Amino acid sequence: MSKRDYYVILGVSRTATQEEIKKAYRKQALKYHPDKNPGDPEAEEKFKEAAEAYEILSDPEKRSRYDQFGHAGVGSSSGFGGAGMNMDDIFEHFGDIFGGFGFSGFGGGHSSSRHSRGSNIRIKVRLTLEEIAHGTEKKIKIQKDIPCPACHGTGAKDGTAFTTCPTCHGRGQVTRVVNTFLGRMQTTTTCPTCHGQGKIIQEKCPVCHGEGVVKGEEVIKINIPAGVEDGMQLSLNSQGNASRRGGLKGDLIVLIEEVEHPDLIRDGKNLIYPLYLSITQAALGTQAEVPAVDGKIKIRIEPGTQPGKVLRIRGKGLPDIHGYGKGDLLIYINVWIPKNLSRDEKRILEKLDESEEFKPKPPRHDKSFFEKVRNFFE
Ligand SMILES: [Zn+2]
Ligand SMILES: [Zn+2]
Repeated sequence: MSKRDYYVILGVSRTATQEEIKKAYRKQALKYHPDKNPGDPEAEEKFKEAAEAYEILSDPEKRSRYDQFGHAGVGSSSGFGGAGMNMDDIFEHFGDIFGGFGFSGFGGGHSSSRHSRGSNIRIKVRLTLEEIAHGTEKKIKIQKDIPCPACHGTGAKDGTAFTTCPTCHGRGQVTRVVNTFLGRMQTTTTCPTCHGQGKIIQEKCPVCHGEGVVKGEEVIKINIPAGVEDGMQLSLNSQGNASRRGGLKGDLIVLIEEVEHPDLIRDGKNLIYPLYLSITQAALGTQAEVPAVDGKIKIRIEPGTQPGKVLRIRGKGLPDIHGYGKGDLLIYINVWIPKNLSRDEKRILEKLDESEEFKPKPPRHDKSFFEKVRNFFE
């Protein structure tokens, strides 16, 4: 749905004064107010649309950007960015225009108790390739805020020293009648004294001084699935810091760090091993041992193996984290050319070089070789 022009929404000219804009918005808000149009989604949309238009046009800076660049100029910079505006936002934001009292919770069902949430804890876990290949369980001691054991996280002495909230008489909510330009309105909001608890602390817990949390530590078991990669984050719900007075706990965020393997290079699910052969091994063929995640693997090198050849051992890579099979072990063949030769060695090689078989006979247009080389270095 394309957005409508803010001036059109409010029905004002582009040169309208602030007073005219405010008046126009009031008119729209009255017309489409959810109280006058119960259960009418179209009216609710219009109401939100008018609030958004007013939010932009009532602010000289935003209005000027809107005049220059249109919706793009005020897209994400405004408080609610247009989309996703909800009624609570509108009432909270424009409380003053509605008569000096915030309407949060207006319309019912939105009144949440304003519990704080504990903060997240971030830790790093270093894993070897072996641990990544099989998955592992790590037990890690974590310093964190825990619910105070003396008051069970309530902040009240012995967890019982509460008294009924005098403001809401234990209801946790307060109802007020306010005069607004929309007329008299009854609103129900979370009790500001007890934040919806219905009770207040009579005597603070001496251990946590009423906070409900204390510093502590906990050993946490972290199950790490096979196939994780460096930089991945696992999130363990509610394993972070406890919140003050029994709110929600934060999360524990586990950042995966991979310990470099001495021999193997990881490439997604595949593992790469660069294998160096001597000239004679490459020419005559040989048996070689290559490292893999679980011990060594014996492989046969055919006589006449060229450098750049890639041998693939299926299923000897790493498991896919989503369980889609396993990667391969790729063996990149290199041939080691000796640098310092004795006189005798030189003589033997010179003799060999006279042989027709020692003259290079590369296959024509061997693009695959260059592809492999390029991939290897990328
Ligand atoms: Zn209260
Ligand atoms: Zn306590």
